[in-house]
Amino acid sequence: EITVRGLEKKFGQLKAVDDLSLDIPSGEFLALLGPSGSGKSTVLMMLAGFEVPTAGAITIDGRDCTRLTPQKRNIGMVFQHYSLFPHLSVIDNVAFPLKMRGASRADRRRRAAEALEVVRLEGYGDRMPSQLSGGQRQRVALARAIVYQPRLLLMDEPLSALDKNLREEMQLEIKRLHSELGVTVVFVTHDQGEALTMADRVAILRGGRIQQISAARELYERPANLFSAGFIGEMN
Ligand code: ATP
Ligand code: MG
Repeated sequence: EITVRGLEKKFGQLKAVDDLSLDIPSGEFLALLGPSGSGKSTVLMMLAGFEVPTAGAITIDGRDCTRLTPQKRNIGMVFQHYSLFPHLSVIDNVAFPLKMRGASRADRRRRAAEALEVVRLEGYGDRMPSQLSGGQRQRVALARAIVYQPRLLLMDEPLSALDKNLREEMQLEIKRLHSELGVTVVFVTHDQGEALTMADRVAILRGGRIQQISAARELYERPANLFSAGFIGEMN
């Protein structure tokens, strides 16, 4: 379980995240939805440990993680500006986090090959990223995020660069991964439909604050909630 209390991030005078509190039960798929600049990526970066909060606390499974480095958090992350190392083969990209953690070469290869199987890219290990399609690259990024079996998977608009068909395919893939691995997922998106179809709960962010948090099912049945938040008009 993740507990966020009074989380704040200031960049100079700007409060990118403002007194944000949130509980995420283990195994939940939570979507963070909100307009550009609402603080979604900043929240994720603090959960991952790439940004240090200016106030507040983050606990993961009872452990205070607020100031821990990313390596100490057991978190997998797929970034918004999706990034594989272009000079490393697919398998070395996937194995990279294991190398950071000091795993042996044999162990790294074995676990990276397993992760590639999970995303259905077995046999692609020796290719270079430039030899893959956009969807395949996203799968490699996913494999890299799950390679050390994190308890928490953070994804920042992982599908926004893909075309519609590929996006829908990857949505299913990520849902499958979520249920197969039993991992907690926090998934950032601009796309309301994507949030509603994928998530258990949807949190709507605005100005660094959670404006509303509801079960996806409830938002389906009572979309007026979303409209009344004046949210949809701001999305584009
Ligand atoms: P988008 O949907 O465009 O990705 P977002 O909701 O992810 O937006 P953030 O990237 O979290 O938004 O940014 C929140 C606010 O904080 C924005 O006003 C942004 O300009 C500012 N910000 C983010 N990172 C930094 C930084 N490193 N330095 C200064 N300001 C920043
Ligand atoms: Mg962002």
